[in-house]
Amino acid sequence: MVHIPINSDFSIHNLPFGIFSTPGKSPQVGIAIGAYILDLTALSHYHEFDFDNSVFQQVFLNDFISLGKQKTSQLRKDIQNWIVDKNSVLYQHEGLFVAQSDAKMHLPVRVGDYTDFYSSIEHATNVGKMFRDPENALLPNWKHIPVGYHGRASSIIPSGEPIFRPKGQVLPNGESQPIHQLTERLDFELEMAFIIGKENKLGHPISTKEAEDYIFGMVIFNDWSARDIQKWEYVPLGPFLGKNFASSISPWVVPLEALDPFRVNGPIQDPAVLSYLKYDGMKNYDLKLEVGITPENTDEMVVSRSNFKYMYWNMVQQLAHHTMNGCNVRVGDVLASGTISGKNESSYGSMLELSWAGTKPIKMHDGSERKFLHDGDTVTMRAFAERDSIRVGFGEVSTKIQSNQ
Ligand code: CA
Repeated sequence: MVHIPINSDFSIHNLPFGIFSTPGKSPQVGIAIGAYILDLTALSHYHEFDFDNSVFQQVFLNDFISLGKQKTSQLRKDIQNWIVDKNSVLYQHEGLFVAQSDAKMHLPVRVGDYTDFYSSIEHATNVGKMFRDPENALLPNWKHIPVGYHGRASSIIPSGEPIFRPKGQVLPNGESQPIHQLTERLDFELEMAFIIGKENKLGHPISTKEAEDYIFGMVIFNDWSARDIQKWEYVPLGPFLGKNFASSISPWVVPLEALDPFRVNGPIQDPAVLSYLKYDGMKNYDLKLEVGITPENTDEMVVSRSNFKYMYWNMVQQLAHHTMNGCNVRVGDVLASGTISGKNESSYGSMLELSWAGTKPIKMHDGSERKFLHDGDTVTMRAFAERDSIRVGFGEVSTKIQSNQ
């Protein structure tokens, strides 16, 4: 039977879905379990599921997710039972388990649309202090609206795919004329994102009560940013080329139901929110997050430890707000949290905040300093939850910054 190490992110309680390939297998659907992947595409050749098996012949999870939670949750329960049963179908056939170390991971979903929120009060306050007014860091709308913008889906890339330092227009300090050049302020943003699993019709809002039914699962999301480009371009219409050159996601989609044991209350929202944003129950999640930077030829330095539980606006509020005007969401859409910063300086979710706009450089193990990211650096984000003896993790999203000169 498959061995699951005690500290594995991919415990029997997790069973996240992803798309993998090996030198001998074209991209197919799998479930991470311990250090292995259960090949669902191969399993579907031996086992007749009570749904259309062709959902496992696809190179994205969209069709599988579209089956609906009743089917996808039942599949997870069946597999949980089969994993611990040595007589189950999983152990009657060769080749159903693939070592993760032998596999390449791909984008899990075909992303139609991507929205980025701005829902961490600590992050919004820090950025407001740096970019605007230290005394009135939050804009008047912030505690009333889960602020967000529509991002770019085409440049969402899987973990392992390198990014290139982008060029853009910047206004040098003290100058009145912009120049165009490679960004000198390349940054990460530590975020989590949820993936839509059910569609609403155009003109039909999703309430906070219904919202969880529309959320299939979550991934780690690194929303790459070029701060000098962003600073010059973002007024009045918001982020554009400072953001749309890449966003990296972790390859395993952790179903929302696997995160149930880690629900916690969110921060108290004061002033009270409008009625369509009110919700019942615990909608925040205690997910431990960390970010490491690995300069070329040096060990990784963990630069931030944060937690998803700090979010001021939760996912059901974000989705209710997104659709309150009748906007429709589609299966595979990605809605990201916005940078997740905690209360203290070691829990900030971007270099912008960690180095306080470049005024407090961070030392790496090799003695070099980082205000922002250097070519050759690899940024790795991890997320996991642990409670009693249950551990559910996301693995990691790891990306190297390649020089484009
Ligand atoms: Ca962002």
